[in-house]
Amino acid sequence: PGFPAAHVRSSFLDFFRRRHGHLLVPSSPVRPRADPSLLFVNAGMNQFKPVFLGTVDPRSQMASYRRVVNSQKCVRAGGKHNDLEDVGRDTYHHTFFEMLGNWSFGDYFKVEACQMAWSLLTEHYGIPADRLYVSYFGGDAASGLPADEETRNIWLDLGVSPGRILPFGLEDNFWEMGDSGPCGPCTEIHFDHMGGRDAAFLVNAGSPDVVEIWNLVFIQYNREPDRSLRLLPRFSVDTGMGLERLVSVLQGKRSNYDTDLFTPLMDAIHQRSGVGPYTGRTGTEEGSQVDLAYRVVADHIRTLSVCIADGIHPGMSGAELVLRRILRRAVRFCIQVLQAPQGALASLVPTITQLLGDAYPELKQEEDRIVDIINENEAQFLASLQQGSRIIQRTLSKKDCKHSGFPASVAWTLHRDLGFPLDLVDMMLEERGVRVNRQDLERLLSENQKDVVFPVDGLVQVGGYVVHQVTATDRLKTGDQVQLHLDQAHRL
Ligand code: ATP
Ligand code: MG
Ligand code: MG
Ligand code: MG
Repeated sequence: PGFPAAHVRSSFLDFFRRRHGHLLVPSSPVRPRADPSLLFVNAGMNQFKPVFLGTVDPRSQMASYRRVVNSQKCVRAGGKHNDLEDVGRDTYHHTFFEMLGNWSFGDYFKVEACQMAWSLLTEHYGIPADRLYVSYFGGDAASGLPADEETRNIWLDLGVSPGRILPFGLEDNFWEMGDSGPCGPCTEIHFDHMGGRDAAFLVNAGSPDVVEIWNLVFIQYNREPDRSLRLLPRFSVDTGMGLERLVSVLQGKRSNYDTDLFTPLMDAIHQRSGVGPYTGRTGTEEGSQVDLAYRVVADHIRTLSVCIADGIHPGMSGAELVLRRILRRAVRFCIQVLQAPQGALASLVPTITQLLGDAYPELKQEEDRIVDIINENEAQFLASLQQGSRIIQRTLSKKDCKHSGFPASVAWTLHRDLGFPLDLVDMMLEERGVRVNRQDLERLLSENQKDVVFPVDGLVQVGGYVVHQVTATDRLKTGDQVQLHLDQAHRL
């Protein structure tokens, strides 16, 4: 193709570096540094948070940043930005992705940011303007925030037609990193993969036909711990564009998985599998379960490789627990759906190194360690998976579950005693054409809400949640009061 991913990545960086005087800053590791409010680095701006906040050490190099560009490794699989449930089901949300971004720290603001973005997309990359939509913050009456008319006018001045400039609320057009921190109104650029008709109603509607590609955030505020907004001493620009989505646009593909960032990986998976090649089916189409498995495995092995290279290992709490869950999901899809042998997952790591190792050399350095850790964890999981499948099979052979549903008590046992995430139980049942009895399960969940238990593998659970930031040295017993922040806890 005319736009190999490696070229898209480097041309983005060059555009801002050479043409617009930005300093190239390397990606930070995905393990957040000194920021307990984050499980993973989830946006390019994370490493610059002290600059936005004005808390940066004045002697550090960061204090001198005015214009910066980078390509950041991001993971969205927990906390405020959690896309884990969508991965594989759609074709444009990944747990690991690369975010291309440019920043102004008290330098340029809205006008220049929009100009540069528009010129890059429409002139430099030649994307037709009639395939693009832009959104802006339409205000929020409840919190007294005004609409960002300034940005709307900037787009009009750049020649965007009024019908392609759409207002949205807090949810889509007010960007926040986490529960607190720098934030502000944003304007986003969306690409219409279909063309040829008015697709305005598909913007921000979760459709694969019109996909958000670039977010330009105008950082004016800090969200304080008490939820109020404080105006920052100087305004900044923070943008983020998903490389995988941009590449799919430039390579004329409807799915990120059909770009050269993924096709060698899909081929490698196919070689190890006992099923046909990846054919891109989604939804309820016949055979889509296999393609879903391809996407999940491809996504998860990227995330596992990047996280392990950066020192996050599958484990028992926080980000490590999330990674453990990702690993277990990948293993199950690999073996049960793709019919690949044990060891297949880890054997994909060299392909990841080939695809991403030039951009992120730590993947090359850590390759052997990544392979070993994945293999060890796979072996552990397979032992308990076998036990779980036997229990499900035995239950189904004894009881007709088509009408009353799969007994919640058995699902609960798998979950609580064998450490199976409930969504994994759901998926295993779905494959066998049954569903768990929801009503009973909800009841069990709420009955156990107050119970703090230490199941076999030592996870601390409250109801259906695993509590983060409780370490094995914390001595909790039933009846102890625990303060729960559910958005920091993980639904199992
Ligand atoms: P979406 O609405 O599609 O979930 P978002 O609004 O959550 O995206 P932002 O936080 O605005 O995304 O991040 C900036 C850009 O990063 C997005 O415009 C998109 O191109 C990319 N991006 C965000 N989440 C993902 C993801 N899970 N996988 C791949 N790219 C992503
Ligand atoms: Mg999102
Ligand atoms: Mg969005
Ligand atoms: Mg967005």
